[in-house]
Amino acid sequence: MNDVLFGDRTLVPRRFKALERKDLSSIPQLARLGEGEIRAMEIVASVLPFRVNEYVTSELIDWARVPDDPMFQLTFPQRGMLRDDDFAMMERVFASGAPSEAIRAAARAIQHRLNPHPAGQMELNTPMLGDARTRGIQHKYRETVLFFPAQGQTCHAYCTYCFRWPQFVGLDDMKFASREADELVRYLADHEEVTDVLITGGDPLLMKTSILRRYVEPLLAADLPHLASIRIGTKAPAYWPYRFVTDPDADDLLRLFEEVTRSGRTLALMAHYSHPRELETAIAQRAVQRVRSTGAVVRCQAPILRHVNDDAIAWAEMWRLQAQLGAVPYYAFVERDTGASHWFEVPLVDAWRIVRDALARVSGLARTARGPSMSATPGKVTVDGPTHVRGERVLALRFLQAREPDWVGRPFFARYDERATWLDQLEPAFGEAEFFFEPEMRRIRQDPDATRSAFRTLRRRRLPVIAAARAESTEGS
Ligand code: SF4
Repeated sequence: MNDVLFGDRTLVPRRFKALERKDLSSIPQLARLGEGEIRAMEIVASVLPFRVNEYVTSELIDWARVPDDPMFQLTFPQRGMLRDDDFAMMERVFASGAPSEAIRAAARAIQHRLNPHPAGQMELNTPMLGDARTRGIQHKYRETVLFFPAQGQTCHAYCTYCFRWPQFVGLDDMKFASREADELVRYLADHEEVTDVLITGGDPLLMKTSILRRYVEPLLAADLPHLASIRIGTKAPAYWPYRFVTDPDADDLLRLFEEVTRSGRTLALMAHYSHPRELETAIAQRAVQRVRSTGAVVRCQAPILRHVNDDAIAWAEMWRLQAQLGAVPYYAFVERDTGASHWFEVPLVDAWRIVRDALARVSGLARTARGPSMSATPGKVTVDGPTHVRGERVLALRFLQAREPDWVGRPFFARYDERATWLDQLEPAFGEAEFFFEPEMRRIRQDPDATRSAFRTLRRRRLPVIAAARAESTEGS
């Protein structure tokens, strides 16, 4: 690991070290909190996953503002993340001096009540390959397949709101994870309608580059002319930007990105940034610059979270910084209905207002963000805002992405509700019994595999630009 010069600064490498529940009492910055507060964190962290690292604690959290600091709220367990009765129950278990198995069992009971599998991920999204159900693949939208490599199912730090939290507490037993790229390649070869693979986690960039290569190279080597983009979902640019700059295999990672872009495909880093502070350090900015130098695109997304970023100014600053660094603001999501969602959720109307006010503060280049968008069971539904139709006050909604491609872009309306925080809390407007997509959604629920089979009727022609770019990269190799 060598020092790296950036502007007039020297970027000094750091060695990654995760800090977890057992370390809470020894994190030096927490000494300013009382014993009771640390105890409360330990209790919450026995139910919800906790992991942080020294870059986050020393560079991203403003300890003078704790406990209200947004990065502290994003990464450290808070008393209010458990409902009062759950917290009281866990407090009693701890106070009784119960053995760790009893603590785990009590935590399990709470975890099962926290909607660990929102939006039908388990039942609806895992496709068949031949006669067998795949492991580590999800196929919800026609053009995009998600792939979960087994070694990439943890993160450099855990977000306290994370919707993938069940796999970090051992609830999922890594059900979604695969050790094989082979299964993915065979699935893609059989599905010409798929143009994009999203490698996701956890955080796939927690893997060493040599391991990530084992998943990416087979995609490049296989005959998959319809595969246009490889996306990598990651929060490493925010939580561990050293991954792209000074880590021992950072250069090798960038070479791998170059191999993808030279193959004529897009390498899109789907970077999860929750707050502008994550983009303000020199190492974070250098990370974006280095990724972009490979020809990769950086697209940025995050949910809107109470206590963290429920503030138009924070979003506007984040988007402005992203655009300035050449990254693309992509999605502002609605917090999902899982885990500690009661602590973070923001009513849809407020989320819409935050996005609108933030968009109004930035230039056109930074207005590429979509949202607020709910990744709900039928698809990604954005809130276009409140309005009046036929004398009724309504909320205008629209699918940005959908299980049934024909639903995309069709405006539909819900009765105005300023407290609703998720699609299933909304009622159709105009006295209608259900939303337009619901009959079809019932059919999909009964047989999700039939819907995926229907996707396959889409045949793609080979795109000449991609073919030309591939030929060029082959000649050069
Ligand atoms: S980085 Fe992503 S997967 Fe990891 S804890 Fe945060 S939201 Fe969850």
